[in-house]
Amino acid sequence: MLTHRQLFLANNAQTTNFPLLLEFERAEGVYLYDKDGKAYIDLIAGIGVSNTGHGHPYVIDAIKAQLDKYLHLMVYGEYVQSPQVKFAEKLVSLLPDDLQSVYFVNSGAEAVEGAMKLAKRYTGRSQVLACYGSYHGSTQGALSIMGNEEYKQAYRPLVPGTGFIRFNEPADLDLITNETACVFVETVQGEAGIRVADVEYMQALSARCKATGTLLVLDEIQAAMGRTGKLFAFEHYGIVPDILLLAKALGGGMPLGAFIASNEVMSALKENPILGHITTFGGHPVCCAAGLASLEVLLNENLIDTVASKEALFRQLLVHPAIKEVRGKGLMLAIELADFDTNKKIIDRCIANGVITDWFLHCSNSMRIAPPLIITEEQIREACGVILEAMDHGIARSSGGL
Ligand code: PLP
Repeated sequence: MLTHRQLFLANNAQTTNFPLLLEFERAEGVYLYDKDGKAYIDLIAGIGVSNTGHGHPYVIDAIKAQLDKYLHLMVYGEYVQSPQVKFAEKLVSLLPDDLQSVYFVNSGAEAVEGAMKLAKRYTGRSQVLACYGSYHGSTQGALSIMGNEEYKQAYRPLVPGTGFIRFNEPADLDLITNETACVFVETVQGEAGIRVADVEYMQALSARCKATGTLLVLDEIQAAMGRTGKLFAFEHYGIVPDILLLAKALGGGMPLGAFIASNEVMSALKENPILGHITTFGGHPVCCAAGLASLEVLLNENLIDTVASKEALFRQLLVHPAIKEVRGKGLMLAIELADFDTNKKIIDRCIANGVITDWFLHCSNSMRIAPPLIITEEQIREACGVILEAMDHGIARSSGGL
């Protein structure tokens, strides 16, 4: 009889020749448990999703309660479904006045696609700009604005009319003109290896967009829902996007995304032609129930207020000759090492010793630290102990010591 691992390799599509092949039986809080009962501290929250931890009882209860009422009823936007209504109302109550209209979708990439279409419709323009180093998803529109040639060159021709500016480089803001429909910017760049923009840059970006009638689309798919120490990362910058993109942690562990704009902007999807974006499962009632419950946990347990001190503890503990830099904001951190090989060896040893981490798509020399926000001081100390031991081991090995 074939093992699960063999079946996985035989029947489940693979996108690399080196999948991790870890097999977990259950997950709770910050821990993943394999079939032998071995616990792993989850330092990536799979990826940037499980902000309230795995299987939070309040979220699970909300899911169960919705399961008993109804699952899918109808494509998005036709029926009044209370989980969507309640979740949108809560999100809007926590957002600035200009962001009142929530379009729920299935994923981050779909939020990107929806926002790109909306910006074109609303402005009547076709040029779309994004930043070098960006990651906005893997569908063709999102790939078109990926700021890394390596992962997109095989899929050309992609969406025409796209262009790139350097992230955090004020000189490039002049490339935003009155022909630009929108600019997609990750408020904190994720897959570039966690790059945090300056406040002045973000304010200048926002001002340039206003001056040219360009919609500013902030992709907070990875950064929002408290991860950077504010519910939404743009709150660090004193700016408000025209379109906000959410996914990942939005659904509390269930698949959910959203693009959010003003009623005026969003109304462009209603006419000439109608049905400007259609999704069958977007805003699934169970996902919205889970998302609302997870947001309530974030707020009621004051988890976001704990993020800054947890970041400080990571920074205090992560001191080692192998570490070139610890970058990031809140619990969205990157540890920069010499190169990919060093990083990979350290990551492999961390995983073997019960700490899950990985590297970034566009930054292979840096290690990801993005745990559930519920991680405790003790768990941070334990995880950092494992990381530092792996670094000692990695350095000893590369200098021929072991
Ligand atoms: N945008 C950002 C910043 C992301 O980090 C990701 C996923 O990693 C996406 C968009 C795409 O989200 P999804 O994988 O749900 O399509």
